Amino acid sequence: MGLFDKLFGKQSQQDGAPAGQCPDCGAMAMTIGGRVQCTNPTCKNFLSVSSAVASSGAPRRGSFAPAKPLNIRYRNFRGEEKTFVADASTMERKQQHFVAQLAPTGERIVLARNRMLNLAEVEAAFPQRVAAGQDWPSARERQVLNFHKKHGSSSPLYEKTRAKYPNW
Ligand SMILES: [Zn+2]
Repeated sequence: MGLFDKLFGKQSQQDGAPAGQCPDCGAMAMTIGGRVQCTNPTCKNFLSVSSAVASSGAPRRGSFAPAKPLNIRYRNFRGEEKTFVADASTMERKQQHFVAQLAPTGERIVLARNRMLNLAEVEAAFPQRVAAGQDWPSARERQVLNFHKKHGSSSPLYEKTRAKYPNW
């Protein structure tokens, strides 16, 4: 209500109306150019600047625009196919999931890789980071990681590489 305070708080009395009060309904009001502008939406004097006041508020939900839009086709737990528009520039890998920020709300959701119907496209499109700020392992590192993961084996090199990429 800070803006209302600024608009209505310090108005001097005009047209016989008490300062800051609507003559019809008694709600907070001001007088502009001889016309009473009331803050009560049901009052006949309801302020015509209301739209300007509303649009000066916090950004509305639904205005998030991805810097790098990416369509993710996804089958949810009900077996329904959904298409999400995510922001590839802020997506992160968390083991078998991606954390994606979706248009149009900017909401962050967790998506399972194995439910993505266009996984290859998704993998290719976003900056490949294992964790926030961490680059994707090199081809050689991936080879080591994948080999030992697949065989359930280990090696000093694997341990070293694994320690570098705990989220892999
Ligand atoms: Zn009024």
